[in-house]
Amino acid sequence: MSSIRMHRWLGCFESHFSEIVMREFESLFAALMKSKFRSRFHLKGKDLAYLQDKGVPLILDHARDFLVKRLAPAMIPNDGKQTPYRGHPVFVAQHATACCCRACLHKWHGIEPGRELTADEQNYLIEVLGYWLKRELGCAGKSEEAGPKQMMLPGF
Ligand SMILES: [Zn+2]
Repeated sequence: MSSIRMHRWLGCFESHFSEIVMREFESLFAALMKSKFRSRFHLKGKDLAYLQDKGVPLILDHARDFLVKRLAPAMIPNDGKQTPYRGHPVFVAQHATACCCRACLHKWHGIEPGRELTADEQNYLIEVLGYWLKRELGCAGKSEEAGPKQMMLPGF
């Protein structure tokens, strides 16, 4: 694989790490695609137009706000019902990637409920959501920049 030569050439752990992350993402997304429920979520209409208009980085800023308020706390009174099905591209992305509630985070991402999400876990979830949003835009994987960058993986 040419990427391995590239990593040796770059000579740093981060690039090696991101290759591991890419593999984790590929297996996560392969599993998500196999789920009838998860794989039927796609952006369309206003949600897609909003993403195209605002761009992925700004939409991921919104995602971070949603995560902090609706997923990160140790106790969430309406867990399982905190993520609407439409109204923002991130909501759709959350259902598609099982980042919608703490029960799904536990089942799909190995993040235990009942405690606050760590900063690393939040960063990881933002990467997952960004990866899905870029796939929806049809640009993921076309360039090095489109893929997830170095990050910390919780529980893998
Ligand atoms: Zn859920």
